[in-house]
Amino acid sequence: MMGERASKTGAAARGSGLVDSYGRVADDLRISVTDRCNLRCMYCMPADGLPWLPREELLTFEEITRLAAVFIRAGVRTIRITGGEPLVRHDVVDLVAQLAALEPRPELALTTNGVLLGALAAPLAAAGLDRVNVSVDSLQPERNFEITRRNDLDRTLAGLEAAREAGLTPIKVNCVVIRGTNDDEIADFARWAAAHDYLVRFIEYMPLDADGRWSEGDVFTAEEMLDALGAAGWKPKREGDAEPDPAARYSLGDGGEVGIIPSVSAPFCASCNRVRITAEGALRTCLFALEETDLRDPLRSGASDDEIDALIREAVWGKWEGHNIGRPDFVRPGKSMSQIGG
Ligand code: SAM
Ligand code: SF4
Repeated sequence: MMGERASKTGAAARGSGLVDSYGRVADDLRISVTDRCNLRCMYCMPADGLPWLPREELLTFEEITRLAAVFIRAGVRTIRITGGEPLVRHDVVDLVAQLAALEPRPELALTTNGVLLGALAAPLAAAGLDRVNVSVDSLQPERNFEITRRNDLDRTLAGLEAAREAGLTPIKVNCVVIRGTNDDEIADFARWAAAHDYLVRFIEYMPLDADGRWSEGDVFTAEEMLDALGAAGWKPKREGDAEPDPAARYSLGDGGEVGIIPSVSAPFCASCNRVRITAEGALRTCLFALEETDLRDPLRSGASDDEIDALIREAVWGKWEGHNIGRPDFVRPGKSMSQIGG
């Protein structure tokens, strides 16, 4: 249960931290650097892609870094670079270097489909990236092709190995589990991840696909994932959560560990510490938010850091209690996952 809504005066009196009216503190910022992608995952993008943002609408690296500095001053500690596919943005290594030079230095992570990671893992690490999450939804080449609509599984797997060699650890693998598509691969993923020392995180499918085909029946739930692990002979045991983390961690009893993110069946809204900036510079306080706060126009029209800070605080304060997936009043956001920045 969420705590009572605080009065705004109370929050202001607290002075520091990006606090919302339910008492949550946002210290994890996700920055989308592009809406473009080199894959077309069926649960995210249409086969033909989407109308891409024109270049002048994207935040420049200087604008991103300035915003990041304001967020860090306001208490953000972790920055995750995402997209679209962040590695298709030209010179993304330079952006990592600029973010790594901020004080205090944020922890820097990146979420990628891994296709371009083979060449970029070492330069990204040298520029200051700390770790990566790599998305892999099937270890079977044909099925991986059906899901991503591209034939790039080998490159993604090579990218994962390059990330290890570059020291971008611990390496997390994101796997969206969709009923009737890849729900029979859970045990394979758990074995493969343990053998390669990756931490696999199974994610429930969310209604953020651009085609709008999601239905509740497609969601392979966290409970079913645990059953699948049990059926394969493991006895998954829930471990304590370290930091606020949407993934519930389970040890498998043989040294292996998996994470399960029940975004739909048991959302972590009550402890959500995230905020997002889209590639065009809009602040979103929730993946499912129906409103955004534009930060690009103020940036481009000479707003001071304090003025931008005030806009951010106002937006975070208004963050809603949580999403209502599965309830009759749930409204899908107008943007899909790749346009928001997952
Ligand atoms: N392109 C990069 C990648 O795929 O890792 C980064 C952006 S992607 C939007 C971020 C994460 O969102 C990925 O792990 C992806 O699998 C996940 N994702 C995309 N659409 C989703 C959906 N409808 N439900 C759940 N997760 C989704
Ligand atoms: Fe691209 Fe990532 Fe969306 Fe797949 S999930 S289409 S890799 S943005």
